[in-house]
Amino acid sequence: MAAPRPDAAAAEVAATAAAAPDWSSLAEVARSCVACPELAATRQHVVVGDVPVTGRPRLVVVGEAPGATEDETGRPFVGRSGALLDLLLDEAGLPRAEVAVLNIVKCRPPGNRTPKAPEVARCSGWLRRQLDLLGADVVVALGLSSAKWFLGPRTVLGQVRGRAHDVDGRAVWVTYHPSAAIRFGPNGAPRAALAADLRAVAGSL
Ligand code: SF4
Repeated sequence: MAAPRPDAAAAEVAATAAAAPDWSSLAEVARSCVACPELAATRQHVVVGDVPVTGRPRLVVVGEAPGATEDETGRPFVGRSGALLDLLLDEAGLPRAEVAVLNIVKCRPPGNRTPKAPEVARCSGWLRRQLDLLGADVVVALGLSSAKWFLGPRTVLGQVRGRAHDVDGRAVWVTYHPSAAIRFGPNGAPRAALAADLRAVAGSL
């Protein structure tokens, strides 16, 4: 896909994604996306996402953006945050092999900066189509950026976590990002909340 004008980029991504008939078609075209010039110039891989071999996940987890390890490997949540996510999913009875793992933004922002609003807007077309193709009935948004994508810009994570929210017919849960759980340590409140929220999600399935 050639780089369009910035104000047309989001619409072009959305149209391209909507035309993808299945996951592998979407992944193939997304891997050559250059809608965000800065990210396209600095990334190693477009991190499209992990899906179960069945193509039908029990749960879809959505984080913010790839980090360094994800950019190197082309897979989401494979660094320290990914190891903790896998552990807590397992403890909740949700093996990662049965879970789809996606990000709001598919390319690593330089220096792990927060994705800019236009980047989120452009990449949203991929994510919306991914959620449709996966038949995602239950979604867990990890961290504030992801929570805001689903629940709106005024979202306060501490006020909305711990219960499902109906978003376009999906049950959307929001909770802390594993990186926050790592930052506050194994006995910190974010890790306990993340573990409790994943158990609550598992109990709802
Ligand atoms: S972040 Fe998303 S929209 Fe931007 S270049 Fe990467 S895949 Fe395309």
